[in-house]
Amino acid sequence: MPINETLQSIVVACPDCDLINQVPALAAGESAVCVRCEATLSRNPPNTINRGIALTFTAIMLYAITCTFPFLSFGKAGIVAHTKLFSGIIGLYEQGMYFLAAVVSFTTVVVPVFIMGGLCYLLLPLRRDIRLPGAARVLRWILNLQPWNMVEIFMIGIIVAGVKLQKMAALEPGLGAWAFMLLIFVMAAIGASIEPRVLWERLESARCL
Ligand SMILES: [Zn+2]
Repeated sequence: MPINETLQSIVVACPDCDLINQVPALAAGESAVCVRCEATLSRNPPNTINRGIALTFTAIMLYAITCTFPFLSFGKAGIVAHTKLFSGIIGLYEQGMYFLAAVVSFTTVVVPVFIMGGLCYLLLPLRRDIRLPGAARVLRWILNLQPWNMVEIFMIGIIVAGVKLQKMAALEPGLGAWAFMLLIFVMAAIGASIEPRVLWERLESARCL
């Protein structure tokens, strides 16, 4: 049976001018704007669940490659050292920078892994109109943690460090770094394509397991 992708009619206050708008039911692909200032009030991107699943699986594969393969290679005086994603966190910890190690591991490991795992937990059953136990709590956590997903900040830090170290040693990005770079775009696409209202309504109408 095809899943009903239409969003229900709601009353919503415009985020820009505070005007109360009656938003009609939105079919897939439609969006509603404020009648006074034309700010977007709600949108219903088509195929949200399937696109979310495809992007989440892509992110999981890229993250697995990032963790498995060398991230950076340092070459100096004929000696080449390979580092992996976790080497930096372990290095910070070993140098006594426990707080920084905790912050970096939270923003580059804990949050992305939770978001990817949480989306699988939500989206795969929703495809069959099923809601797993605690799904609403998982969605709330995903939305709250989204701003803490800082893979791109980590990458900028690496690029800055790489530029500064270039005079001292030859630096070569490994397969892990290329996968991480792609992961930044995929994570951004996940953030942009998943509309919270669509997921809340789908969770509401799904049957509990
Ligand atoms: Zn408005």
